[in-house]
Amino acid sequence: MDQNSVTNPSGPKKVGKLTITVDRNLCIGAASCVAVAPKTFVLDNEAKAIILNTAEEEIPETIFDSARSCPVLAIILHDENGKQVFP
Ligand code: SF4
Repeated sequence: MDQNSVTNPSGPKKVGKLTITVDRNLCIGAASCVAVAPKTFVLDNEAKAIILNTAEEEIPETIFDSARSCPVLAIILHDENGKQVFP
C-alpha cells in the first residue's frame, strides 16, 4: 500500500458533504467495504479498514453502500451539519 494514500486512517475524513469514520474496535476485517468502495477503503496490516485519500473520488452513494455492507456497522457517516446519517 502506498503510505501517501492514507493521512487519517480511521477518519474523520471529509468526502464532499459526508464525513467518514471507521470504528476500529468494531471492524472485523470482513472487507465488504473494500469490495464495494475500493477507492475509499483498504485493510491495513491489522486487517482493519482504513480510509484512503482517494475516497474523495468515490461517489456518495457508493460510500453509503459500503457502510450498509459492513456486517458490524463499523462505518459511521455524518452529514455536513455533523448529524449522524448512518447507521
Ligand atoms: S466491512 Fe466493516 S468490518 Fe469489514 S473491513 Fe469494512 S469496516 Fe471493517
